[in-house]
Amino acid sequence: MSNEIYETVIGLEVHAELSTKTKIFCSCKTEFGAEPNTHICPICTALPGALPKLNEKVVEYAVKAGLATNCSIEQNSKNDRKNYFYPDLPKSYQISQYDKPLCNNGYIEIEDDNGNPKKIRILRIHIEEDAGKLNHSDFSGESLVDLNRAGVPLIEIVSEPDIRSSGEADRYLKKLKSILQYIEVSDCKMEEGSFRADVNISVHKPDEPFGERHELKNMNSFKSIQRAIDYEKDIQISDIENGVEVVQETMRWDDVEGRTFSMREKENAQDYRYFPEPDLIAIKLSDEYIENIKKNLPEMPESRKKRYMSDLALSEKDANALISSKAYSDIFEEAGSICKNYKAVCNWLTSDIARILNERELEPENIPFTAKDLAELVELIDNDTISSTIGKDVLEELFDNPRSPKKIIDEKSLAQISNKDEIAEVVLKVLKENEQSVADYKAGKDRALGFLVGQAMKVTKGKANPKMLNELFIEELKK
Ligand code: ADP
Ligand code: MG
Ligand code: ZN
Repeated sequence: MSNEIYETVIGLEVHAELSTKTKIFCSCKTEFGAEPNTHICPICTALPGALPKLNEKVVEYAVKAGLATNCSIEQNSKNDRKNYFYPDLPKSYQISQYDKPLCNNGYIEIEDDNGNPKKIRILRIHIEEDAGKLNHSDFSGESLVDLNRAGVPLIEIVSEPDIRSSGEADRYLKKLKSILQYIEVSDCKMEEGSFRADVNISVHKPDEPFGERHELKNMNSFKSIQRAIDYEKDIQISDIENGVEVVQETMRWDDVEGRTFSMREKENAQDYRYFPEPDLIAIKLSDEYIENIKKNLPEMPESRKKRYMSDLALSEKDANALISSKAYSDIFEEAGSICKNYKAVCNWLTSDIARILNERELEPENIPFTAKDLAELVELIDNDTISSTIGKDVLEELFDNPRSPKKIIDEKSLAQISNKDEIAEVVLKVLKENEQSVADYKAGKDRALGFLVGQAMKVTKGKANPKMLNELFIEELKK
């Protein structure tokens, strides 16, 4: 009843796996999906005496992420041990960063719920190693550990508690994901766990201090995060209204039940007994090193947007839709450069492709066909081989079973009928079978023509060249 007087406060801790070829402290591959325990060595399995060596690429990627999110880069940084026990963590500590992270005090700009620009501050970005994975078998009841992921490099991006709604959280996460993809430091594949968030949420009355927070661990779907925030907000408000105290807790979101469960009381920094990692030297970055990374940052979305509007004459709305994801923007540029019809490529991406992705709950980076396929589809329509209606069927087919559109058209005999005799035959047949419509048309009801064309399309399963069909009908009806 009194939801209005409460404000929701959200802070996000995002873990992104870096797309370096090798792990953070050894030269094992980071590749996802390999046979369990095939990318391991004495270092990442913590055999006695094995010593870590910091992968320089990890520092470079973290600095890139810091620069792209307006952080100041810490020139004197170091690694620390975070001690905790879990079966997928062979060393019983994680090498992370505690009081001297690589990046501090940045921000990302998003839109608030009223569409106004808003800065979400970033407290810090630090580097750390990922843990392994436990695979629980439903059959034997055993849990088997796979250490391929142990030592895969992560950056953790910690926001200030500046987010005020599930919508803002969603936009912040999508923006952050897109930035990391543009600068090519992470593929951010959520289904593979390369981009996951701990969601901290509390509620309070605006004139009072922040409330105690619940922390929802390891969320990797935008939809679940939104649902979880809305659920927690309501539950915390009703607890407070009912005189139940909200206490700091670590929780888990159950997507099937649509509710959160408590996992444990929240641990704090003391629990982790942080101390400087004695096996690694401090990280010192020169001005020149940082400048050099800054100079070589790839083109950012805003600059692409400007180019699309000025060079390719796209509307701001279209340009915004295209840059919303790097995968979109990349496929747009590549397909456009092949078929030269940028406008048509843009239309496919922002309408039918966006719709199908949405229906199938896929992200743009999961588009299964190539830019070359899309360019070919556009060309086939532009040179009248198929109609745009048939083009939509071909697109569905590209999603189901990607292969060259030319092949799809051949296999399914979808090519447009542009043979005048063939079309004339259909026209005569339709006229003969629809005398009433013919009479209507002659009596001045232009609409009847549309009906006749529709009938002819039905007969040809949508394959008749619509322009020729129209012309032939009018010609015949004039007789
Ligand atoms: P940790 O969770 O590791 O103990 P912090 O204390 O730094 O670390 O907080 C982590 C996250 O919690 C940050 O993203 C921060 O913005 C957020 N946070 C802190 N206080 C609150 C609060 N009262 N409500 C919601 N989020 C909060
Ligand atoms: Mg936390
Ligand atoms: Zn290793």
